[in-house]
Amino acid sequence: MTTPVPEDAMLIVGAGHCGGRAALELRNAGWTGAIHLVGDEAELPYERPPLSKGLLTGESTAQQCGFLPASEIERLAIQHHVAPATRIDTLARTVTLASQEVLPYRSLLIATGGRVRRLTVPGADLPQVLTLRNLDDAHLLALQLQPGQRLVVVGGGFIGLEVAASAIQLGCSVTLLEMGPRLMGRAVPESVAQRALTLHRKHGVKLLLERSIERIVPTHAGVQLLLTDGTQLDAGAVLVGIGIDAHADLARAAGLAVARGIVVNDQLETSVPGIFAAGDVAEFPSVISGALMRQETWHNAETQAHTAARNMLGQHESFAAHPWFWSDQYDHQVQVAGEPALASSGPNGTVSRRLAGSEEIIFYLDAERRLVGACGWGLTTQLAKEFKLARMLVERNVVLPRPQVLQDLTIRLKDMLQPSSYRSATTEPTSQTIGAGI
Ligand code: FAD
Ligand code: NAP
Repeated sequence: MTTPVPEDAMLIVGAGHCGGRAALELRNAGWTGAIHLVGDEAELPYERPPLSKGLLTGESTAQQCGFLPASEIERLAIQHHVAPATRIDTLARTVTLASQEVLPYRSLLIATGGRVRRLTVPGADLPQVLTLRNLDDAHLLALQLQPGQRLVVVGGGFIGLEVAASAIQLGCSVTLLEMGPRLMGRAVPESVAQRALTLHRKHGVKLLLERSIERIVPTHAGVQLLLTDGTQLDAGAVLVGIGIDAHADLARAAGLAVARGIVVNDQLETSVPGIFAAGDVAEFPSVISGALMRQETWHNAETQAHTAARNMLGQHESFAAHPWFWSDQYDHQVQVAGEPALASSGPNGTVSRRLAGSEEIIFYLDAERRLVGACGWGLTTQLAKEFKLARMLVERNVVLPRPQVLQDLTIRLKDMLQPSSYRSATTEPTSQTIGAGI
């Protein structure tokens, strides 16, 4: 029995960054039929990076985070529904909303993002204990970040460090607790984690590694955190940033393959034909190694939205963007491109390029001396230009017979991009390329 296609509608569940961009791309790609965009937040789609930075410090507004204003929604005839999707019927090709509305689809995109992890210790549900994922969370947190406020940040990942920097700028007194032995987990190399730690301490953050919370108790002025080593910390507010889990319940209940996220192929199609997943929620094959991975970044949401939208319309495009993200902390920035985890553990697996100031870019190479990743740290203004070139080298999978050239500031990264100066992963070496000495 063939499944009837009930209606020529494109349906997107999740009206965040990825879902909103995908709706736009459907129109850009020429789709003239119905587009339903289903979200569970009152706001129209917006980008989240300012939520831990400019929105807290007052440098940006909620309106500036939005990229699909009501006038555009109307002009593009996108039907925006504010009600959580509660069920996908893969046979009937419908999605049911909490409002009981049932929407049919020809193609469906699931872009439901992630759900913040919460502490499980006693007292974790006290009103002073906050998390940060959406605009409402950011507004609530911003109210707490008054000069002199005692803020305890739990988690030395990106949310924790970015909020700590914003709170310091606002005159708060900040203590940051990280359970692991270093900051930013496995996302950056040890040397960058160490530099970030030094920077935050220089700005006055009391940064405690390898600390765990036993319980949180209310006090007359806020809360007290009791740590497993006996330390007691008083706080007016606590911000917990200990990671997210993929928001995949809907997909799991519908019988789609789900592991750490909704499993998709290189075209971002799930185990059920006609249903796609993208953004934080998707677990997709790496463009370098083919191994399944998730990316919780702005760039991933942005680029996957485009590929998914076009594939919803029947184009069979492979997702080909290399990973990339940045994190702003004070006037410094960390950027990571590619997949550092694929580096060889041998002597040429990592090569550091120390720039003129205190900036550093660490390059990662696999056993074939092919660039698979780069991580940069330094003053945002100084790092940006050089890292752009580093990222281009990684995206071209450049192979460097002598990786040490990356250390040499007299050899410009720009020159390594020239075909005569390197051999790419797909091009056989010529006497000229090897003779170039790079
Ligand atoms: P989201 O943007 O989270 O959108 C998912 C949407 O789906 C949400 O609105 C959610 O409520 C909704 N939803 C979930 N379930 C349902 C349902 N059943 N029905 C309807 N709707 C549903 N990345 C960077 O690279 N650099 C940065 O500096 C950076 N800063 C960040 C700062 C903060 C505070 C946060 C939270 C993230 C930051 N990120 C950053 C990460 C980046 O914002 C995310 O990777 C990106 O938002 C993922 O987009 P998404 O559309 O997959 O998920
Ligand atoms: P994250 O980057 O995964 O970091 C969480 C950190 O908290 C990790 O260092 C983790 O250590 C630590 N941790 C876990 N449990 C803990 C506990 N009980 N006590 C103390 N520390 C604990 O997640 P996040 O910072 O919460 O960010 C949430 C999401 O927003 C992620 O998707 C992130 O990518 C995104 N985001 C991205 C950016 C950016 O790219 N610039 C900025 C903000 C947010 P282990 O790793 O050892 O578990």
